[in-house]
Amino acid sequence: MFSIRMRSAKGGPHEKGGTHISGCERLVEEKDLPGQALEMVVRALSHSKGKADFIRITMDEVRKEEISYIPCPLIEEYRGEGIEETISYGKRVLAKGGITEEAVCKAVSALLSRKISMRGAMIVSATTGERLDGLGDRGVRVTRMGFENPAEASSLLLSHGYQGVHIKEALVLAGKVLSCPEVLGELCISDDPDYVVGYVSYKNSLGNPVYSRLSPMKELGNSFGGRIFFVKDGANIEEIRSYLETKTVLVRSPLLSERGKIAGGELEDVVKEIEREVETLRSSPDFRTLHTYHPLNAARAMSEGKEYIMMTTNNYLGLAQWDELKCGARRGAAMGTGSGGSRLLSGSFPLFETLERELAALKETESALVFNTGYMANVGVINALVGAKDHILSDSLNHASIIDGARLSHATIHVYPHNDISSLERILQSLPEEGRRLIVTDSVFSMDGDIAPLPKLLELAEKYNALLVVDDAHATGVLGEGRGSAHFFGIQSKRLLQVGTLSKAIGSEGGFVCGSETMISYIRNKARSFIFSTALTPMDIGAAIEGVRLIRNGKAPISKLHGLVRSMTHLLAERNIDVPGKTKNGNVAEDFNETPIFPIIVGSSEKALHVAEEMKKRGIILSAIRPPTVAKGEARLRLTVTADHTEEDLAYVADALKELL
Ligand SMILES: *Cc1c(COP(=O)(O)O)cnc(C)c1O
Repeated sequence: MFSIRMRSAKGGPHEKGGTHISGCERLVEEKDLPGQALEMVVRALSHSKGKADFIRITMDEVRKEEISYIPCPLIEEYRGEGIEETISYGKRVLAKGGITEEAVCKAVSALLSRKISMRGAMIVSATTGERLDGLGDRGVRVTRMGFENPAEASSLLLSHGYQGVHIKEALVLAGKVLSCPEVLGELCISDDPDYVVGYVSYKNSLGNPVYSRLSPMKELGNSFGGRIFFVKDGANIEEIRSYLETKTVLVRSPLLSERGKIAGGELEDVVKEIEREVETLRSSPDFRTLHTYHPLNAARAMSEGKEYIMMTTNNYLGLAQWDELKCGARRGAAMGTGSGGSRLLSGSFPLFETLERELAALKETESALVFNTGYMANVGVINALVGAKDHILSDSLNHASIIDGARLSHATIHVYPHNDISSLERILQSLPEEGRRLIVTDSVFSMDGDIAPLPKLLELAEKYNALLVVDDAHATGVLGEGRGSAHFFGIQSKRLLQVGTLSKAIGSEGGFVCGSETMISYIRNKARSFIFSTALTPMDIGAAIEGVRLIRNGKAPISKLHGLVRSMTHLLAERNIDVPGKTKNGNVAEDFNETPIFPIIVGSSEKALHVAEEMKKRGIILSAIRPPTVAKGEARLRLTVTADHTEEDLAYVADALKELL
């Protein structure tokens, strides 16, 4: 094997005052040397910090017997609302590894007060944060490390949705640093201005290394960054430095180290390993189980002989229990109970055309295409429109189906802070000219109920030649006379695609996308979740047709729903219960939105579960939404109002909340 290193600068070599652009080091097989050297040169010439005019590549042979093998850190991920929140989460994570908050604060402020980024890392005490290395601007540079099997590592990471060189290099570096016995943890802020992801690492209670990926750690466009290694008191700094700078290590593949090792270093039986994981999960407040209810309408359900007020359904208009929809389903069932194949083969019976015409009419577009679920619609549409060379700009609070669709597409994903138009524009400006751009957002955010600024997003899409995909799952049947967010804002465009679901306000099951004739034909030809899955059943379609018609003809109880949303808002305001987008300090909030989603944020999963249990004792079903559906520390009760609720129901629920919060 060879160690190959690259350092690049602008304005001449570093030692003659050139500005550092980028540097890296890898351990590779001899046959891979030319390829790696080329890649490193390309990297130095196309770095976002500028084009290097000085590049130095050095390489030397490493003998096999010099190499030690170390475990790959377990990967955790956290996306915070803002930088401060992320940093405070990072502090809590580091505390698990025995690093004090004082040490983190002191070391981070020493790092941030520096005028220039350091290429190496600072070594500091894990108790006091005092710097111990005495290496000034240079710091400690970790080198001589790589993955044992880089190709396998890449594909394993990719299968978990992680791509790009940054994460691979970070994992290897974090692994080597933590493999040093006297190091307790690390904090890293990238100096790449395009990269707001940073990480902290620590050793968990079993002594296993953990890499905790955090974003955002800094503002986009900021090229300041650095690394801090936290070490035990009394550690031998010279030994640590010599280990990190000269010892050659190879990191085992990511998944292997996630498996529990049993005594003797053998791998645990896979079934036992899963059993153990379930045991751990079971004791966590985030463990999920199913509850069975028999729905009577959108506001009432029976469970074990008792009637409950349901405050957690997305059947916003109650249509799922309407006779019109039940009749539609029966008419569908008359054709048979299964569709028998994919739409492109045998499954495209006539009801589909009717439904697609109805949907296009509802959404005021030329055309529509039905998918089996909203989830599959997002995955299919995003994958049809963009691929590996393209760019997706995705709101940080987008629904999981958008995130999964984006990851599956292999496009580069740029997550912009929630509803933050100027950050989005900055990212768009920084993109290369080649490659498609796709902006994607929930129109009504599923867990917060707030509304995306679609006219501004469309303006940016036009200015920067992007497509705009809007997920109307919670807007269809609710906003814009039930036609959804585009009608609500009065926008139309050939670059706009409206995704939606048939399973919320429409009252059936399935998903769809509406847009121009051309776009829909394109998606029909490219979306794999459409092509390779059996079509919906005739019952789903029959019911959905009736649901869409009721909404389109103004026969669905949409204004009743909005009246009840306003009542609930006033009831909560009177009781001084603050709900983002609804109430603040005993009044209707300035940013009031008329969606039926009330996010009652309580903080911890334990508290959310406790309130939900107490509400159940009072005959109210309200589900606790916990991580990973929402960010850690933002567990909530997601309360939804439907057209089937009565004013009395709402007052009763508001009183119970007042008592419990
Ligand atoms: C529910 C939901 C989906 C998924 O729709 P299904 O039909 O339930 O698969 C997609 N996006 C958002 C925003 C949602 O809330």
